[in-house]
Amino acid sequence: MKLPPFEYRSPTTLAEAVAILAAEGGSARPLAGGQSLLPVLAFRLAAPSILVDLRRIPDLRRITIDDKGVHLGAMTRWRDIEDDARLRTAHPLLVAAIAHVAHYQIRNRGTVGGSIAHADPAAEMPGICVTCDAEISVMGTNGARTIRADDFFVGALTTSLEPDEIITEIKLPAWPAQRRWGFREFARRRGDFAMAAAALFYDQDAGGKATNAHVGIIGLGDRPRRIPEVEAAINGQAVDEALMERAAEITSANVEAQADIHASAEYRRSLAGTMVERALRDAAQRQ
Ligand SMILES: Cc1cc2nc3c(=O)[nH]c(=O)nc-3n(C[C@H](O)[C@H](O)[C@H](O)COP(=O)(O)OP(=O)(O)OC[C@H]3O[C@@H](n4cnc5c(N)ncnc54)[C@H](O)[C@@H]3O)c2cc1C
Repeated sequence: MKLPPFEYRSPTTLAEAVAILAAEGGSARPLAGGQSLLPVLAFRLAAPSILVDLRRIPDLRRITIDDKGVHLGAMTRWRDIEDDARLRTAHPLLVAAIAHVAHYQIRNRGTVGGSIAHADPAAEMPGICVTCDAEISVMGTNGARTIRADDFFVGALTTSLEPDEIITEIKLPAWPAQRRWGFREFARRRGDFAMAAAALFYDQDAGGKATNAHVGIIGLGDRPRRIPEVEAAINGQAVDEALMERAAEITSANVEAQADIHASAEYRRSLAGTMVERALRDAAQRQ
């Protein structure tokens, strides 16, 4: 389908990009990899007056790792993450999740900032942000601010971004070397959006009991969410087979799910429990 008409701008500074968005009062849109925005335009689900291409703005495509964690510039592409060997130890959960995003051609263009701004409930990156307590830095006419991932995702395809704000960076907190983690996803075909996925990690105390459990579910409900009931069941326990099975039951009992053309809500809740159980088993077996 043909795209609706729009003007194209390609600013070279963040301030210029923000000024264009502000001047249009919400009818201009940033353009990153175009892998979600262009289909949205083609289906006429949006008709922005101007597309503000972010590619020429310096410093938005970068991966920095320091003692505070992993800093991903908003224009970092999926391929950049796959290609960066440092991330396999600095944030293995991120790397494992990204492997499930779409197909190579899309991963070659799509960006982390575009993904979280698009806020598809079945997308991996928003789920990683929520599970890992990411901080999202944005810049608008009122200056810079940082938004906790939990406050950023408001609903399906809806975030707390203002129309004149541009995401500049996602910060994932530092990842201890001994951390146990797992990522499991079920999709109809490899590269499709998740029908259900679980991203989780925990640390261990001196006696081998789990602490600091973070369990996130992707693909159910209107946005990714952590499941505090499962986290509470894991914390303070040795992660054994009985706990894995209990975690699956608690997940299925506590996640919100909606039926769609692919599956009933009940099936999705059951699938989410299975994903948590398997991810927990992977985590427990990891050395
Ligand atoms: C066939 C297909 C399969 C896919 N499968 C998956 C999948 O399995 N998992 C998955 O996670 N994704 C999937 N995607 C989506 C893909 O990952 C996109 O790349 C991603 O969602 C959007 O990134 P983008 O850089 O292409 O953003 P764009 O399409 O350029 O932009 C998306 C939205 O974000 C806004 N935006 C972009 N950058 C910024 C910024 N820095 N600040 C503020 N707003 C911004 C845009 O205005 C637009 O509203 C798939 C896409 C396709 C076409």
